[in-house]
Amino acid sequence: MLKEIREIAKKTANQYLLEAKKNNKKIMGYFCCYVPEELIHAAGFIPYRMRAVENQGTAKSDAYFSPSNCSFVRQCFNKALDDEYPFLDGVIFMNSCDHLRRMYDNWKHSNKDPKFLYMLPVPHKSDEICIEEFTRELNSLKTDMEKFFGLQITAQALKNSIQLYNKQRNLLMSIYNLRKSDHVPLKGSEFTDIMLAVTSLPVEVSIEMLEKILIEIKDRKVGRESDVRIYLGSGYHEEQALLDLMEESGGIIVGDNSCLGIMQFDLNADENAKDPIRSIAGRYLKRISCPRMVDDFRRRLDFMHAAIKEFKVDAVILDKLEFCTLWSGTMYLYKKELEKINIPLLKLSRELYGGATGQLKTRVQALIEGVKNQKTRI
Ligand code: SF4
Repeated sequence: MLKEIREIAKKTANQYLLEAKKNNKKIMGYFCCYVPEELIHAAGFIPYRMRAVENQGTAKSDAYFSPSNCSFVRQCFNKALDDEYPFLDGVIFMNSCDHLRRMYDNWKHSNKDPKFLYMLPVPHKSDEICIEEFTRELNSLKTDMEKFFGLQITAQALKNSIQLYNKQRNLLMSIYNLRKSDHVPLKGSEFTDIMLAVTSLPVEVSIEMLEKILIEIKDRKVGRESDVRIYLGSGYHEEQALLDLMEESGGIIVGDNSCLGIMQFDLNADENAKDPIRSIAGRYLKRISCPRMVDDFRRRLDFMHAAIKEFKVDAVILDKLEFCTLWSGTMYLYKKELEKINIPLLKLSRELYGGATGQLKTRVQALIEGVKNQKTRI
């Protein structure tokens, strides 16, 4: 199953998605993890998390963006200009950052398909007023989708979708938690494969696969005792070569606070709530936040501290994409706080698929050797 998952993760579109498309199923792309998959699924669509895998560089999108824009955004938009997402019926954007907002503007301006492009304003706080506001915004998105595609999203469909996505999240959490063990059954790179796959598969298929994986890895042991247990604090990391590099240098990634990691599945929506849209709004705003959310750093830090203990972490790697201002500020704060607990730390800033693997490898190896030497001295 893990081999099949890696094949799915490497591709822009997988066979399940294309098969569903042939059978007239609609597919909705989305950026990033505050766009509720439940709402898209309840409309009868397959939610597809946008990705830059199989990218061919940024030659075309460079006409729209400056080199000081995020490489994830530039690469995804280049793929859009090259018609590399032909299976999409729409894309929902959100106000994560100005780079992403600009991609929405550019995509509209370029007149490229698909024609349903929607900017979802997501509040920056998670108090009751913001949940109320986000509920209103999700209702507007629902109405726009209903009008544009001539469909109806019923309360019952929303409840069913909430149940399915809760089930998927529970399975992901069970798999994630197995990495607390001294005998780590799954590499971080394999977990990222799983995340790339489940965010591009029909949820019903992904649930079946996750159930099989859980059985398959129960007695598996990929981590060696000598491996340095790494916590990955990362904005966006779909690039397998980077994770393989960390794990081939004597490290094993046991936990993360990444967009394509625990942020996607760490809290369920209330299945019994009277208003399913409000329940969805609450889940997305209350789960562990990314740096776009304001006044929430302390909660994010507590979350990381708890994970460092529970997953017996030896070292932290903070990884961000160049020009990501949200992660730049947060990394500075994490660094200051992590120094107080004396945990070995490496900060990386890189372009997505930007190469420079030799330099990265040297820095990762230096961190891992340092931790190993420290352990031997003790
Ligand atoms: S990595 Fe940072 S700059 Fe790039 S899209 Fe995400 S939040 Fe925006």
